[in-house]
Amino acid sequence: MLKEVLMKILFLDQSSKLGGAELSLSDVAKPYRNDCLVGIFADGPFREFLEKAQIPVQVLTNQPIQISRDSHFIQSISRLGSLIPLIARVTKIARDYDIIYANTQKALVVGALASFLSRRPLVYHLRDILSTDHFSRTNCWIAVTLANRFASLVIANSKATQSAFIEAGGRPEITTVVYNGFDPENYQSQPSSLSHLKQQLGIHNQYVVGHFSRLSPWKGQHILIEALTHCPEDVTTILVGDPLFGEEEYAEQLHQQVADLGLENRVQFLGFRSDIPSLMACCDLIAHTSISPEPFGRVIIEAMFCNRPVVAAAAGGVVELVESGRTGWLVKPGDVKELADVITLCRRNPKLAIETASQAQQHLQMSGRFHLSKTNQQIAHLLRQLMKETPYTLDPSSERS
Ligand code: UDP
Repeated sequence: MLKEVLMKILFLDQSSKLGGAELSLSDVAKPYRNDCLVGIFADGPFREFLEKAQIPVQVLTNQPIQISRDSHFIQSISRLGSLIPLIARVTKIARDYDIIYANTQKALVVGALASFLSRRPLVYHLRDILSTDHFSRTNCWIAVTLANRFASLVIANSKATQSAFIEAGGRPEITTVVYNGFDPENYQSQPSSLSHLKQQLGIHNQYVVGHFSRLSPWKGQHILIEALTHCPEDVTTILVGDPLFGEEEYAEQLHQQVADLGLENRVQFLGFRSDIPSLMACCDLIAHTSISPEPFGRVIIEAMFCNRPVVAAAAGGVVELVESGRTGWLVKPGDVKELADVITLCRRNPKLAIETASQAQQHLQMSGRFHLSKTNQQIAHLLRQLMKETPYTLDPSSERS
């Protein structure tokens, strides 16, 4: 079905790193790989990842973009000027494409102006909660204003991201929710390779709680470390992920916290890994501990596809993913004791934890929720609609060069 879609899409993403937004974008771009380009604003592992997946990619600038999550109004506006060469480049490239598809906030800024100048429709895939929990007021305002003015379609990755957008002044009529999709095949692992991996990690005789996320204060790895002190002694944890966006100081604090609490034998930092399904399969429980609302929470659905029980912090999109007590457990964000209680419950009652994981996996299998094929069909449908409604891009006399 997707093969029928003849659309040339220029995807834009600001990151050089492999965060959740970038992994999700590569899944969205794959069906269009014969006729799309992913333009990124810095070189790094994301380019390599796309090349490996045979998705065309181009690094569009080597100038770092200086607008940060907490920039104030004057800073943001004055720094917009530095984007002019990039906007000019994207505008030129966009004339060879039917749609500009911005996957991140800085990509929205560049894509919005390029969309106006190239007369190509703009899609914004909203993967952030646009609230002051995560961004400065200025950045929220810029994102909402540009989306309202230039985007024909805002695809929100959860009801939580959609609601925050609307609450911040976003136009409801241009938004729609499409959940991230996953290919269940990618989450099968071989029991023989698992025992080898467990041996390698030295976790074969322990009860392992896995945490999979970049190291960042709002992802709350410190909550899990503290919770361990309230759990049975044989509960250990693996922390999988690196500080991706300048959060090295937090990583150091975590190491210090582990030392201060005398937990060196119970906490392992594995850094960034590409073998997430195998690592998840080595765990007895997966913990998600964000202390600010999570826009979606890919790791939660990945754990479910891996048939592993999940305990997650109940805020943002997460509450749309987990039905507490049936397909996992939800706890209050930042509540160490509540998290420790769920871990202890699962440790003492492994049968209950295994049953809960199976229930979650079966639910995903039977409902088709979060399946990549479904997500990609929804997106293809929306893009086809958009193409119908914006005839100038289909007009052979348009400026496509
Ligand atoms: N991930 C990974 N390697 C790591 C840590 C995390 O590939 O070492 C992946 C993880 O499996 C998930 C994504 O990074 O697919 C993180 O997405 P999530 O929505 O949980 O958080 P985000 O990065 O978008 O805030």
